Amino acid sequence: MNYLSTRGDATPRKFCEILLEGLAPDGGLYLPAVYPQVSAARLAELRAVFNAGAAGGYAALAFEILLMYIDDIPATDLKALCNKTYTEAVYGTPQITPLTKLKDGLYLQGLSNGPTLAFKDMAMQLLGNLFEYELSRRGESLNILGATSGDTGSAAEYAMRGKKGVRVFMTSPHGRMSPFQQAQMFSLMDENIHNIAIEGVFDDCQDIVKAVSNDLVFKRKYKIGTVNSINWARLLAQVVYYFAGYFQATQTNAERVSFAVPSGNFGNVCAGHVARMMGLPIDKLVVATNENDVLDEFFRTGVYRVRGSADTFETSSPSMDISKASNFERFIFDLLGRDGAQTNQLFGETIQRQGQFDLSADPRFVEATKCYGFQSGKSNHSQRLATIKATSETFGVVIDTHTADALKVASEHVQSGVPMIVLETALPIKFAATIVEALGREPERPVKFTGIEALPKRVKVMPADANAVKNYIAQACA
Ligand SMILES: *Cc1c(COP(=O)(O)O)cnc(C)c1O
Repeated sequence: MNYLSTRGDATPRKFCEILLEGLAPDGGLYLPAVYPQVSAARLAELRAVFNAGAAGGYAALAFEILLMYIDDIPATDLKALCNKTYTEAVYGTPQITPLTKLKDGLYLQGLSNGPTLAFKDMAMQLLGNLFEYELSRRGESLNILGATSGDTGSAAEYAMRGKKGVRVFMTSPHGRMSPFQQAQMFSLMDENIHNIAIEGVFDDCQDIVKAVSNDLVFKRKYKIGTVNSINWARLLAQVVYYFAGYFQATQTNAERVSFAVPSGNFGNVCAGHVARMMGLPIDKLVVATNENDVLDEFFRTGVYRVRGSADTFETSSPSMDISKASNFERFIFDLLGRDGAQTNQLFGETIQRQGQFDLSADPRFVEATKCYGFQSGKSNHSQRLATIKATSETFGVVIDTHTADALKVASEHVQSGVPMIVLETALPIKFAATIVEALGREPERPVKFTGIEALPKRVKVMPADANAVKNYIAQACA
């Protein structure tokens, strides 16, 4: 399998070449040259693999799917990496991503049983093991620079803490994460973990990461890598749970399911798109946004209009407070028939100049819904509260704010005869204040997180300035 860039650079690259990279050299995102096709017979095999062992099923399925995309890691090593990553010990459940039936045709798939209680662990835990493997194979080290609005950062830090050859420099918007999220990240005392709180919003953090990565001299000198959701390996890891969700919700491969996905950077649902392109029988991919509705606006109107940081709302589902969706380019590349030149024009030029592009008059825009199955909707604070309350009262299940956005939007797109799987992306304890507002009581807290907010914190506050961050990295590496 070779990888190419969404902006036209078709230099063939192998998985491990792009594993430690962020953007492609031309500024695009990496995608596989083709999507491996899963035939009916192959899908039946994968179902059997998944169902074979309650304990081993998910790891074995992950191995089978990764193997379709990775041919520069020996299969035995890849298998060992998957087995080490997806264990009951790490996820607290043998199913890894268990399915909960809310009612006939409506399911929650739990993706937030990992160490940081959000779905980002699903990919990041694998990435930690892949990075350690590849760096030691090369005898190299890496400085990971990242931007987080909460869940990515803690997932990255918990995946990389103590790993040899890796340092993490994680920027986050100062004061904008929940107290629980801040405690999770800032309480880590591992020498190789550096928390940097930026005086700005998430997009400022993301811009800093881009600016530093675009300084090729600095990037090379300090071996800067990223773990942002644009990393292909993360996306690939996420493809696995769409298969796992499908196998749990269906008895036979003749059935189709739909997924509703709480979306920000379009990473999670883009993995669903990849699974669908491989031939997994997915009917609809329902993109749910919060008040920051860039993606919903696109799927409704054909206009992709990014917002400035001043126009990014601070919401009670903060991990979706995104004003440009960094993975969206991957889908547009596919929608445009994989035309790298046109993708480059839209994302490299039109967006830069005009802050938006408009595909409403392009005949291919209707295919987003018709051929690729995308639907969308949005939710706001009061709808979020109402959904959390109703779900608790009706089903006895407490969901987090992001999952609530997806459930709210899912209910607008349910079709009879097609199970709807809502992806649960975080545990409610991460967003306790809003749960209290909705239910009048605290959500359940896993024992290992008792008193976490009171732990000492290790964090450096900085202005939104890429040079300040560069200086900090240079000093830490000195
Ligand atoms: C990151 C995150 C999302 C958004 O996922 P994307 O891949 O950015 O679309 C949704 N919910 C939670 C809890 C998250 O951490």
